[in-house]
Amino acid sequence: MADIVVVFDFDKTIIDCDSDNWVVDELHATELFNQLLPTMPWNSLMGRMMEELHAQGKTIEDIAEVLKRAPIHPSIISAIKAAHDLGCDLKIVSDANVFFIETILKHHGIWELFSEINTNSSFVDEEGRLRIFPHHDFTKSSHACSTKICPPNMCKGVVIEKIQESMSKEKKIIYIGDGTGDFCPSLKLKQTDYIMPRKNFPVWDLICQNHKLIKADIHEWYDGQELQHVLLQLINSNIISSKEQHDGDDNGDSTQLVTVDCKLHKIPVSAH
Ligand SMILES: [Mg+2]
Ligand SMILES: [Zn+2]
Repeated sequence: MADIVVVFDFDKTIIDCDSDNWVVDELHATELFNQLLPTMPWNSLMGRMMEELHAQGKTIEDIAEVLKRAPIHPSIISAIKAAHDLGCDLKIVSDANVFFIETILKHHGIWELFSEINTNSSFVDEEGRLRIFPHHDFTKSSHACSTKICPPNMCKGVVIEKIQESMSKEKKIIYIGDGTGDFCPSLKLKQTDYIMPRKNFPVWDLICQNHKLIKADIHEWYDGQELQHVLLQLINSNIISSKEQHDGDDNGDSTQLVTVDCKLHKIPVSAH
């Protein structure tokens, strides 16, 4: 078993688009969305858009059908299944909403592989309209984030801190994301953790500009195939090194681990 918690962002990480934009665009409501965007926070606007689409006669089934067509790279699905098979605990931290994420993951048969989905809550009301609520109720108080770049409804850094509090000390986090909102949790990761920013996306730019603030090991990826390759390599090298450390303890020999430059491979050498 791997002592690893893999935390995935959802939009443009697991799926290859933004689910909010995808639904709005596919249901031909982009113009209204763009008109209203300057007037309210993104998350509140999505709630409003669901109201508009419902008024136009679009059903919850129409929305679900659109979500099932959202692009997802097959290697991402394989990577998620493999990470789960290797014993990793899989979680999602996303600024989408439960209905969108659940519909897509169930459609691809990977919903049950995740132990926790941290996102904006949502439910279908008696009129068949999707209601979306902020993860953090900012009408009562603001979240404790100091970066000033997290949206009012969700600070993923606060979510990561809660995950860290709940997990045992020897476990490591691998965090995978693409967006501005993924920068705050990157700052919370420890030296033994890993951050996987999507290359040429906003979180990658922020990490490049502020890499001295990042304690975790940085491993970039660009597409689904590269995500799969990098993630599985990180998981496997951790399983090998913890096994060797464990065997070393058992046998009382002098095997120790040396971290090479790229930090991807931990190679055992005999101490002289
Ligand atoms: Mg994203
Ligand atoms: Zn934050």
